[in-house]
Amino acid sequence: MIKLQGLHKAYGKHQVLKGIDLELPKGKVLAIIGPSGSGKTTLLRCLNLLEVPDKGAVQLGSVSLSFQEGVKLPFKDVLSLRKQSGMVFQSFNLFPHMTALENIVEAQVTVQKKSKHAAQLRARSLLEKVGLADKADSYPNRLSGGQQQRVAIARAMALEPEVLLFDEPTSALDPELVEEVLKVIKQLAAEGMTMVIVTHLMRFAAEVADHVILMDDGHIVEEGAPQEVFRQPKSSRAVQFLSRLA
Ligand code: ATP
Repeated sequence: MIKLQGLHKAYGKHQVLKGIDLELPKGKVLAIIGPSGSGKTTLLRCLNLLEVPDKGAVQLGSVSLSFQEGVKLPFKDVLSLRKQSGMVFQSFNLFPHMTALENIVEAQVTVQKKSKHAAQLRARSLLEKVGLADKADSYPNRLSGGQQQRVAIARAMALEPEVLLFDEPTSALDPELVEEVLKVIKQLAAEGMTMVIVTHLMRFAAEVADHVILMDDGHIVEEGAPQEVFRQPKSSRAVQFLSRLA
């Protein structure tokens, strides 16, 4: 499960997150939507401490941490929270000098201290899961964007994280490659993987999410089940944002 309390984050004087409270039960999917610059990516990055919140608390699975301005957390605490999640970036971020298989093996051996053989077995089963069993030995530059993103999803799952985090996972893809990536994410949702997805694709958010939050200027301005947020938004800001997309 995920629980956020009073999360604040500023870059210099620019307050980007202004008090985020949120709960997501295990096995559920959260979609984060909202206008550009509203703080969606910053919120996602605060979940795995790629950005460290200034104030508030984050719980992921069994690990919870509190943040206070000016107080630096011990690195072991940062690592323990980070281990709870796997991240999928907009631009895939695969290691270019490693094959698809090696990309998925790497952290299992270095972080989990698994044997190479055990790590390869898991990597092959993950590649099969994302429909790329035949691309194990291909380097990223030989794969399409959609295939690279599916390898990135398999890599994010390799360490058996409690939560998968997606930052606009299809926005760097040619339109014809979007669907193959969405299909993998929908399959993971059906299997009960807890996921947080920042997306501009409203139809996808409506289809895959159990809970949607709409952010604006560092606040959650609307939240609920997709049918509530998309069909009966309560706040004027949500009505305005959604009507612009229609
Ligand atoms: P988009 O949909 O365009 O990706 P977003 O809702 O994800 O936007 P964020 O990327 O979280 O928004 O950015 C929120 C604000 O914080 C923006 O004004 C952005 O310029 C600023 N910001 C983000 N990262 C940094 C950083 N590392 N340093 C300074 N300012 C930043």
